[in-house]
Amino acid sequence: MTSLPIFIFSDDYNLDLGPHVFPAVKFGHIYRALREDSRFADHTFVRPGPATREQVSLAHSRNYIQDLISLQRSARTYRSELPLTAEIVDAFFLSTGGTIEAARQAMQHGRAMNLGGGFHHSYRGHAEGFCYLNDVAVAIKVLQKEKHIKRALVVDLDVHQGNGTARMFRFNRNVYTFSMHEQDNYPIKERGSYDLGLRTGCRDEEYLALLGDALERIQNTFHADIVFYLAGVDVYERDRLGGLSLTSRGVAERDRMVRDFARDLPLVTVLAGGYAYNDEDTVRLHLQTCEVLADLI
Ligand SMILES: [Zn+2]
Repeated sequence: MTSLPIFIFSDDYNLDLGPHVFPAVKFGHIYRALREDSRFADHTFVRPGPATREQVSLAHSRNYIQDLISLQRSARTYRSELPLTAEIVDAFFLSTGGTIEAARQAMQHGRAMNLGGGFHHSYRGHAEGFCYLNDVAVAIKVLQKEKHIKRALVVDLDVHQGNGTARMFRFNRNVYTFSMHEQDNYPIKERGSYDLGLRTGCRDEEYLALLGDALERIQNTFHADIVFYLAGVDVYERDRLGGLSLTSRGVAERDRMVRDFARDLPLVTVLAGGYAYNDEDTVRLHLQTCEVLADLI
């Protein structure tokens, strides 16, 4: 199941947040760099539509969705660290649509990547962090409802725990949530299927050895119909919000391990976090993930 990965992107993923730590313009930079790279000339780029309210309601409560759509500051929306504007809410519906599209493409073609998404701190009934809608949770629910899949595996290697996702699927035997993250960092941890909290300063060798062991354990424990990979690059040593110490090469090897783990399964990759001191590093590391998925490195 290894044809060229399909990339999902819309110009409307980009948000102008001013001098905010969330580099919301990274999406466009990644897309343009891919389009200008001759090695990706034969790849397919798909523009998604927004997730529908019905799709989103498979993973989120109706009251919370109503607050989002009506831009209501409430107990459900206030924990977001982003403004609550129509433009931003629309962008979340769109990137959720992008992850649903990526999941459909992965079911057909093997690998697909949303050049956005990975908003794993969003809960069923409230926002948190930079996350209004949990795109991966919605996509899993959509595929299950349409009976395309039964069992989904989430491999969340963002430096922050996927607390929203873990909580949403805590009692769901058909969704296995694996999160490997920096223990002493945001957020308050939820219990997922398998959590590996790493010490601050963890380097390539230790990280990759632990990941290898974890993937082997998962392979022996859970038989998935699809893999969702949150490829956050905030594990990088020069990240503002992450305290791990992975080099670029370490991040590439991490991505290769997940790619190879999912070689015989549909693999849906989403960007998730990345807040390097230098924005160019963030874009370069996300591009590196694209190169790994395309078997270029
Ligand atoms: Zn993160």
